[in-house]
Amino acid sequence: MNGGVTHIIGAGIAGLSAAVRLIDSGREVIVHEAAAFAGGRCRSYLDPTLGVVIDNGNHLLLSGNHEALDYLDRIGARGTLHDPGAAIFDFADLESGERWRLDLSEGRIPWWMFDRKKRVPGTVLGEYLAPLGVFVKGSSATVGQAMRCEGPLYERLWRPLLTSALNTDPLESSAALTAALLCETLAAGGKACHPLFAAHGLASSFINPALGFLAARGSSVRFGERLKAVHFEGERAVSLDFDPAQQELGAGDSVILGVPPWIAKELLPGLTTPDEFRGILNVHFQIAPPRGQPAILGVVNAEIEWLFAFPDRLSVTISNADRLIDRPRDELAANIWHEVAALTGLPADLPPWQIVKEKRATFAATPAQNAKRPDSRTRWANVALAGDWIQTGLPATIEGAVRSGYKAASIVRSGANAPRRRAMSFSQ
Ligand SMILES: Cc1cc2nc3c(=O)[nH]c(=O)nc-3n(C[C@H](O)[C@H](O)[C@H](O)COP(=O)(O)OP(=O)(O)OC[C@H]3O[C@@H](n4cnc5c(N)ncnc54)[C@H](O)[C@@H]3O)c2cc1C
Repeated sequence: MNGGVTHIIGAGIAGLSAAVRLIDSGREVIVHEAAAFAGGRCRSYLDPTLGVVIDNGNHLLLSGNHEALDYLDRIGARGTLHDPGAAIFDFADLESGERWRLDLSEGRIPWWMFDRKKRVPGTVLGEYLAPLGVFVKGSSATVGQAMRCEGPLYERLWRPLLTSALNTDPLESSAALTAALLCETLAAGGKACHPLFAAHGLASSFINPALGFLAARGSSVRFGERLKAVHFEGERAVSLDFDPAQQELGAGDSVILGVPPWIAKELLPGLTTPDEFRGILNVHFQIAPPRGQPAILGVVNAEIEWLFAFPDRLSVTISNADRLIDRPRDELAANIWHEVAALTGLPADLPPWQIVKEKRATFAATPAQNAKRPDSRTRWANVALAGDWIQTGLPATIEGAVRSGYKAASIVRSGANAPRRRAMSFSQ
């Protein structure tokens, strides 16, 4: 599969990270993107209502997301992240009015847990050990089967953290995915848990620097090129049918499909992919945050889960939001602003707002859906897969998307995509 041109389909994080990695190793790459913009589910856009550039949704990274940070280093954008320099998480309970700050010790030993003053108010040490159950359960177990999903610490820490990280109700989410996530973050100590986010928008951190990196190295992203079909001969893809043109593939050319699962399924016959998804809702309010507002505030006993503060706006994220996604937009904005006003002390009058509903934000992180994720290799010698829904062992996150892009790039580089029928995720 090595040599020749690699055609990468999709300019989301997975496709872009594959492109960056291949270019870094001297490969020739062309990225084909159906939309007029790059970024996919991780994008910024000029909102006509607010007249400013906003993100489709607030994205949180943790300092333990090593591949995502490696990608940012390669494109020269790590400095664009907001980094508090410590594993600090501010929380508020909307119902009781309590506020607290989790400040995790940097090392692997969680000393903070043993200090009552550093624990979440109203919790006891034993509750912090509850997630240990996810490490010992098999791959078909849910978090609900692996740990006690009730009590003060569950409501005040485990539920908000796990819901946002897996975008699925912990009761039904995969214990194995949760274990992988915890291993790379909380279990690795506070140094792996600094909360990081794109201070000047997703495009400024994750997308535009990557496009600049590609352009500076003579690679292009061809926008408006939707792949409609892949033509195969024997064990190889031989041409790509774009709307509007056809791309013939040379003997050394390869393809990385970095498209969402429902598109990949149409393009590759017999591919098994996750087919159940969960929504995420973001509400942006065009108003300056009050003095002292934390950059990120976790909220419990409320509809709001996370409140992000930017210089010119406040922005709310609600994961696993299918219950809200079909509600009228005006009603959602008014109800959520009511909560924001109570949390911030800002006036009750609704400021200009925008709601972004992502119905298929991520695949549902259940054991059954996790089992449907395919390997990066396909049955075709010159076609590899990338995307947060590939079997990365992680939930659908930027870290997972980058990892999948890097893996696809390494398959192309090593030319090691010879069909391995036992390891494939095809139903035929
Ligand atoms: C609202 C929201 C909030 C999120 N929050 C977080 C978070 O806090 N932390 C985190 O780590 N992750 C978060 N995520 C998940 C993260 O955004 C995704 O994991 C990541 O962006 C997936 O990237 P991808 O490249 O796999 O897929 P996509 O972004 O879906 O990219 C696929 C690309 O393929 C293109 N395409 C589709 N069909 C074709 C075709 N036929 N031909 C050519 N191109 C095609 C699409 O236009 C798109 O650009 C969030 C996601 C959403 C939606």
